[in-house]
Order: sequence, then structure tokens, then C-alpha cells
Amino acid sequence: MKTNNLGYPRISSNRELKKASELYWLGKITADELLATGKNIRKENWELQHNAGIDLIPSNDFSFYDQVLDLSLTLGVIPEQYKAFAKENSVLDLYFAMARGAQKEGQDVVAMEMTKWFDTNYHYIVPEFTKDQEFRLFSEKIIDEYKEAKTAGYETKPVIIGPVSYLLLGKEKQEGFHRIDLINKLLPVYFDILQKLQDEKATYIQFDEPFLALNLSDIERAALVYTYTKINEKFPNIKIILANYFDCFGENLATALSLPVHAFHLDLVRCPLQLGDILQSNLLVKNTILSLGVIDGRNIWKNDFKNSLTLIQQAVDAVGADRIWIAPSCSLIHSPCDLDLETNDATLTPEIKQWLAFAKQKVEEVVVLRNLASNEITEDDQAHYEENTLANTNRKKATIIHNDAVKNRVASIVEKHSKRNSPFPVRRQQQIAALQLPLFPTTTIGSFPQTPEVRSWRAKLKKGELSPTEYNALLQKETEETIRFQEESGIDVLVHGEFERNDMVEYFGEQLEGFAFTKNGWVQSYGSRCVKPPVIYGDVSRPNPMTVKWAQFAQSLTPKWVKGMLTGPVTILQWSFVRNDQPRSVTCTQIALAIRDEVVDLEKAGIKIIQIDEPAIREGLPLRKEEWAAYLDWAIKAFRISASGVSDDTQIHTHMCYSEFNDIIQNIADMDADVITIECSRSQMELLDAFADFKYPNEIGPGVYDIHSPRVPSSQEMVDLLEKAAAVIPIDQLWVNPDCGLKTRHWDETKKALVEMVKAAKQMRVAV
Ligand code: GLN
Ligand code: ZN
Repeated sequence: MKTNNLGYPRISSNRELKKASELYWLGKITADELLATGKNIRKENWELQHNAGIDLIPSNDFSFYDQVLDLSLTLGVIPEQYKAFAKENSVLDLYFAMARGAQKEGQDVVAMEMTKWFDTNYHYIVPEFTKDQEFRLFSEKIIDEYKEAKTAGYETKPVIIGPVSYLLLGKEKQEGFHRIDLINKLLPVYFDILQKLQDEKATYIQFDEPFLALNLSDIERAALVYTYTKINEKFPNIKIILANYFDCFGENLATALSLPVHAFHLDLVRCPLQLGDILQSNLLVKNTILSLGVIDGRNIWKNDFKNSLTLIQQAVDAVGADRIWIAPSCSLIHSPCDLDLETNDATLTPEIKQWLAFAKQKVEEVVVLRNLASNEITEDDQAHYEENTLANTNRKKATIIHNDAVKNRVASIVEKHSKRNSPFPVRRQQQIAALQLPLFPTTTIGSFPQTPEVRSWRAKLKKGELSPTEYNALLQKETEETIRFQEESGIDVLVHGEFERNDMVEYFGEQLEGFAFTKNGWVQSYGSRCVKPPVIYGDVSRPNPMTVKWAQFAQSLTPKWVKGMLTGPVTILQWSFVRNDQPRSVTCTQIALAIRDEVVDLEKAGIKIIQIDEPAIREGLPLRKEEWAAYLDWAIKAFRISASGVSDDTQIHTHMCYSEFNDIIQNIADMDADVITIECSRSQMELLDAFADFKYPNEIGPGVYDIHSPRVPSSQEMVDLLEKAAAVIPIDQLWVNPDCGLKTRHWDETKKALVEMVKAAKQMRVAV
């Protein structure tokens, strides 16, 4: 029974890769220094896995930015617009230019599009294909890293995204073809790679085909059969491991199992029942190996050895121990690096810590599980087993997890809790009377610039260099200036600016029961950007109001309406590590009740307009369409629970960015927010069509300018966009606002842009 790992975090335990990349981009270290950092990280990762006892250690799982972009470069998929840049620059700089754009000495290229990797918070660079797309072996990274590992003394298993998934991850840049049609032109380059790896004596190669977890067309399934049949014909001696993760094979099961490969990797965390289906089917070819992904690569909980051993035993009984490997469910790049670095009891208590495992610990779990499942159990393994059982029992019984009041409250939810008192048309009349807003009311999405200064105050507070009183005074001053600016520029609905918030989820998590935080639990989000999701370990409740003080303070400064700002339950859930001992829907409902209490308290404090941000609703959609309805049902209901505790004349806003709405517009309407603001400007209002076609009944604020860029738009550009919007949405339903919060912008451009925005709204009013 071998141990198998699919990928290891490349950011390194202290985010060394982030630091080195950012220094390189600033010109503060040389390319050689950056390359040396990469080499060092790879070596450390191989060494760690080797010492832990992993048999199949991945190589080519390292990346300076993104593994999909690596593959595009490997296959020579370089869009036309970078060709001139490529001539004058190193491959490394070309790579970074494709990832993040480049502006230097007359060269000006934009970044390629980025999107989420399946249902994770990892973002990849989307490959672009043309009709006559050519492929060639442009970079030998995968071969070089295999050789590098060998030189360092490690036999590795190169990892590559399979040809079918690679094509499906991309996008056609021209009409008149489907990217899957390119498979015949693409395969020869994969053959080149396999030939070179074979020449270097590589034995195992892992092909990731995560699209096997999605709904595929017959053509796509046929492409898979064609691809792996051809590979097997040409390279019968290479042992191909076909890796699927994040969900079951579903209706692709028969196709998948028919592929002539050496091993199948299964995600038994997301899809434990599949093991039984596979073992009972007659589809598994004799001798094929099953890599059992029993350890959760997507979450931070310690494995439950007892459960895993039951699954493993089931497989061993059916096919024999020599056809079973033990593995994490997916690549460990979705886990933080090392729990041993969490030494701060204030952020993570020892009680909670004993329930957790990060990447390094998961690798150890893989090996112990293998030992336990085989007949060579050492004393050490036995001790591990007992420790694991104890930790899991402790967790089940822990008093800090369970809160009966919360459980009872969830159990007693009835329909009226997720329903406003009156339907929207009735509420609307009351809100019009109460709020007295002009046509095309202007507002912002919440945050104002989080300057280095503002962030330094928070850092000083943490270090004790500022007292809470001093810190508050500084924030109050910043808030007051922001209110004054909004008044002067003529914005109708003001915000306080969110200066007190580090992050829109962490800020709430820190004030809720049931949440814990890590000091160093970073996970790569994109490129050098990492996130540190909170850990939801127990029943969630809100001991005290969380935002009322700041909203009230801001409202006291002005006769205009100040909008209260909250993060919604689905987004808090989606951007955290969520407990795995109850359904996500239950945890989400608990959070919804906590937010509901906050909404009610804001209303009591005199706040008449309250925004509940839900940018993550769309990304929470399951991978398979047949599971969408169930998710949307509880997710939308959670939002409604959070929003429905207030009277009719209190106006509830929600905000969503990076979303497409076409296929979920009915659900968006079911949220029944009085006003929804959406990111829209980069699509030139195209995203609004879904709302127009649906005849979306409530009010809507399509973003009129892109906040991701420092560029200041003119009022005319925004008028043009608003006219587009007004052509499809009745004007008395329209609001005027930016695409998203302004926290990443500088004050100078923020002020100019908002002044232009107000000008645009006024021009629209005059035109009526
Ligand atoms: N209110 C938040 C802000 O303005 C919303 C952020 C988001 O949608 N991602 O920053
Ligand atoms: Zn947003």
C-alpha cells in the first residue's frame, strides 16, 4: 500500500514565495534570487514529504504564480498581444506579464483573465485559444523540475493538468470553433512531454482531470477516451495516475473507469459513497490501482482515522492491499502549511488546535493511516491512533462547540422568519415616504481607502503601541472626514467607511462565538495573494452588537442617511474553514440568525438603510448542476433570515460582485433585497441584461465604474453607462454607485471619481 500526495503548498510556511515575488516585481531582488527562492521551496517540500514517508511525491506542483499559466507557457499558448513583449523580455517576465500585466519603458500589456478554480478560492489564469491555435513545447518546466528533484535525491511523480481539463479551463477568443476541437493539435505536445519524461526515467505521472467531477457533454467524454487511449498506445510503460477531485464522477463514472490508466485517484471526502459504487461495479479493470483521497485537502480538520480505516478496509477487502494507495482528497495547496507554527494561544487555543491538521500534518496522517491499514503497525503508529481517537472524541464532546440556545433557535425557525412583513411593492411605498431620496440616488458600496496609515493604527493597537481610546479617536476622525467628503460631494446615502475592519469576514468572525483564528494559516488565493480564513469550530452566536457603535457614530455626524454595513451569512460561510460535523446549511443558518440580530439592533439604533453583502453566493454553487437547487434553497433562505427582522420602511440592500446572474436570476430575485448593487462596469452593463430580461422587480444599482483600476472615469462615461441601464431598467428602480468597495484605492482618485459619479447622476436627473 503506497502513500500518494497530489500537491504541496508552494507559498511556503512563512509566505516566502509571496515575499520574494513581490520584491522581484518591485525590482528589489534579481531574477536569480527569485529563482533560488523557488528552488529552495521545492527542495524543502520534497524533503519534508520524503522524510514523512510519502512514496509518490509530486513535482511540477510548484508554481511562481499559477499552475494553469505554467501549462499555457509549457504548451506555447501565448496570446498574440504578448508576442512583442516576449521578444524583448525573459520568459520569466513574459510569464508575470501574462499573469499581472506590465507597464515599463513603452511596453504596456494587460493581464490575462483570472477566474476561480472550480469551487475553491484559488484563482487561475484562463488560457485563451484561437481557431487556428498552435501548440508547441515552449517551456520544459515539468521536465526540469523532475530532473531537479532527482539531482536533489528525490524520485518524484510529475503532475500535469490533463489535456481535456486544460482545454476546458480555457476560453475561445474567436467564434466558429469549440476549444475541445483542438485536442488533436494539442496531444502531440503532451506526447513530447511524456517522451522526455520517459527518457529521464520517470515512472509515474499524475494527470489531473478535475472536469470529470462536472457535467460533461458526450463530445468531451469522447475526448477523454481518445486522449487516454492514445497516451496508453504510445507510452504503455508510463504509469498514468488519473486524478479527479472536488466531487464524484457522477454520470462520467463508466467513462472514467474505462480509461486505460494505471491508477484512479478518488476524492472520498467529497464523495465517500463512490467507493462502494466503484467496487461493486464490474467496471474496474483488473490490476487498476485506487488512490483513496480520505484526508481532506480543502479543510483544516484532523482526519478521523476510525472512519478512514473503515473506507480503506472496504477497498482492501475488495481488491487487495497492493491495489490501494492512501492520499489526501486533492492537492494540499488549499490547506495552510503548518499547524506547528500556531504558537499563539490567544488566537488558537490548545483545545481547538488539537482538532486541526494543516498540510504538513496531513502528509503525516497519510503515512500513519497507511501504516495502520497495513500489517506493520509500530508503537508510534498505535500512539498516533490513540491520540487521533482522543482528539476526535474530545471534539465531539467539547462544551465550547455546543450551544443549546443556538440549536433550539435554529430548530424553531418558521416561515415568517425568512419573510419581510409585506411584499416589496408595499415596502417600497413606505420606503419612498420615509427616505425621501431623489431619482438615481447615489451611494457607495461601503469601504473607503484603507490607507497604510489606517492599517498601521490597527497594527499599533495589536502591539499595544496605541491604546483602544487612541485607536478609536483616530478612526473617528477618519470616519468623520469621510462623512464630510460624502456630504460635500453630494452623495445621497452615506457610509461610514469601514476603517475599523481588517477584512469583511474576519471582522465579524472576531466578534462571533464559534470562530477561531490562526496566526499563520495562509492559503494562496492568486499569485502572491494569500487569505487567512477564520475557523468556524462551533455553534455561532452573537454575544454583543458588532457594528452598531460605528454606524451610530457616523449617523450622528450627518442629517443624511448613513447605510449600515454587514457581511451576509453565505459569504461568511464561504470564506471560512467550516466545521465538518454538521451540514453547511445548518452553520449558515446559525450565522444568519446572528446577522439578523445585528440588523435588528441597527434598526433600533436609528439606521434606516442596511446593506448585507453577499458577494460569495455565486461561488458557493456546487460543481454539478443537479445539486444547485438544494444549495440555492438554503443559501437564499439564510440571506432572507438575516434580512427579515426589520419593519417595512427599513431598506435592505445587498451587494454582489464577480457574478454572472443569468442562470440564478430567479434566486437573486428571491433574496428580495429592496436594493441590490452589482459589479457591472467592466461588462459595459451586459450583466444587467439578466435583470432586464427577468423584469427584476426591486431596485438595482449597476456599478458605473471599475474600482479595480486607479483610472478616474469621466462623468460622461458614467452617463453613457447609466443611459444603457436606463434603456433596459425603469429609471425609478435605478441607483448610482461604483462596482464595489473602495478600500484598495487611494483617496485622490476616489474623490475625483465620486465627484464625477455624482455629476453623472445629476445629469441623468435633469434629462428626465
Ligand atoms: N462592503 C464591502 C466593501 O465595500 C464589500 C466588499 C465586497 O463586495 N467584496 O469593501
Ligand atoms: Zn463587491
